[in-house]
Amino acid sequence: MHEMSIALSIVEAVGSRADAEGASRVSSIELVVGKLSGIEPESLRFCFSAASKGTVAEDAELSIEVREGTGRCMECTKEFPVSFYFAECPGCGSLRVSILSGEEFLIQSMTIEEEGD
Ligand SMILES: [Zn+2]
Repeated sequence: MHEMSIALSIVEAVGSRADAEGASRVSSIELVVGKLSGIEPESLRFCFSAASKGTVAEDAELSIEVREGTGRCMECTKEFPVSFYFAECPGCGSLRVSILSGEEFLIQSMTIEEEGD
């Protein structure tokens, strides 16, 4: 499952960061997911709660910002929002569209709690 391997890599990334800072717990994680990344936010949430069990990220609040994709028509240079790879230009109907953004996936920020609280 695509989302499961992503969830595991998030747990690993925030876990090693928490380790490095001597934190006992990660309380929240903010993610940015592009619409064209192929990641399903609800599915990612579900996988994350399974993947984080028994780790410092267990019970962390996951907030996911979904970003619209953007494409540019290679015929008329119009830019427009896209949700799929095979987008049609709303200006001239061309299918020669290059994707400018929307494939990103990143951990925007995380909040950690120090040991001993
Ligand atoms: Zn066009």
